[in-house]
Amino acid sequence: MRQITKARRPVQRSLNWIPAHDGIGDHVRLHVGKDSCCYLVQEIQCDFHGERAFQLDKLDIADPAVYYVRIAGQRRECECLGHLRHGRCKHADAVAALLGMGKLPQKFPTCSRAA
Ligand SMILES: [Zn+2]
Repeated sequence: MRQITKARRPVQRSLNWIPAHDGIGDHVRLHVGKDSCCYLVQEIQCDFHGERAFQLDKLDIADPAVYYVRIAGQRRECECLGHLRHGRCKHADAVAALLGMGKLPQKFPTCSRAA
């Protein structure tokens, strides 16, 4: 028997960068399909050679969460379930996009020590 599967439409993704204001740090609103959520974005110290690390705090009282993203060029890692399952996720993609837009100036020196 032949299985018929529906072709999946690519999910629309976009982001809005919201610079720090009124005592709230830099944050980003991620839009994935019809859903959207805000994340506080902070660079954190990273001891891995040539990498930078970021903490994303999900600003959702009903479903709070913290995600850690490490990035070095095209290599991205996040500890969320989506990244573990698919090898990519909206958090790491957002950090890469923000770096590409020059929105995340380097706060800590990149570690030159080999991991
Ligand atoms: Zn993630």
